[in-house]
Amino acid sequence: MLFRALVGVSSLLLMVAGATAQEFPTKQVSLAVPFAAGGPTDTLARNLAVAMTQHLKQQVVIENVAGAGGTLAANRIAKAKPDGYSLLIAHIGMATAPALYRKLPYNPLTDYEYIGQVADVPMTLIAKTGLPPDNLTELIAYVKKNKEKLNLGNAGLGAASHLCGLLFMSRIEADIVTIPYNGTAPAMTALMGGQIDLMCDQTTNTTAQIKSGRVKVYGTTTKTRVPSLSMVPTMAEQGMKDFEVSVWHGVYAPKGTPKPVIDKLVAALQASVQDAQFKSRIAELGAQAVTKDKATPESLAKHLKAEIEKWSPIIKKAGVYAD
Ligand code: ASP
Repeated sequence: MLFRALVGVSSLLLMVAGATAQEFPTKQVSLAVPFAAGGPTDTLARNLAVAMTQHLKQQVVIENVAGAGGTLAANRIAKAKPDGYSLLIAHIGMATAPALYRKLPYNPLTDYEYIGQVADVPMTLIAKTGLPPDNLTELIAYVKKNKEKLNLGNAGLGAASHLCGLLFMSRIEADIVTIPYNGTAPAMTALMGGQIDLMCDQTTNTTAQIKSGRVKVYGTTTKTRVPSLSMVPTMAEQGMKDFEVSVWHGVYAPKGTPKPVIDKLVAALQASVQDAQFKSRIAELGAQAVTKDKATPESLAKHLKAEIEKWSPIIKKAGVYAD
């Protein structure tokens, strides 16, 4: 009797959960951004939120959960209610965090449902306007000579700006002091104010500042020039071969989010990455929306795993980590 009653209650609960999942979304959806407002991840996320709002037919709002190189937001969403209303947009840092953080409180491979990839964003090496060198060759000589006096801003351990800065320092074999911020938006303010000297940051944050001459630029991290920044030479063009960094992004939901909800989110993401306005708006900022086949859970899962396998040995060898 008790058993029958329990079966009855649980199937009723399943029906309710199923019905709720079918009706999704009935209220606004929150997309957590792991860095400060106004920065590159935030800018991409806000453009995505506009497109997703249209295609999901429900408001998608941004919540900036900055700190600890992006791991605070990732942890928050790993532990959020798995109902589709709490999502995360995260970049390459999702793949580097397991090697960088000894006590990472979440597992990128087991704690999420994947929605899909969003866009790839190149980076630029920039400096405060007062820095004397006028090109990459001069910059390398200048940094080597003045390394004790210079500093490099970034968005914390595992941020793309951190990885790109590490790559630059290792390529020129000169270590300079790094200063972490909650995102490269505040770091950009510090750079323009002259408190920091150099930064490697995504074009979604640097394009406007480069075009208006508020920062100096030494190169892009791309194979060929970025169309929206065609006056800026690539690092490779100036002799620094293999300095290619492209920052990929994915959208995640907490593990256990019902399949019908995930399916709706995937459909809205796919419509968004094909949305002409979204594509052209982010292309103006140097970013490229992924093709539809990459805006899928399978593609994100595969890419994330491959990136974890690629970065973990490199980071372990470099001996950079946080306790
Ligand atoms: N995504 C940036 C980085 O990795 C930080 C930011 O979005 O503010 O450096």
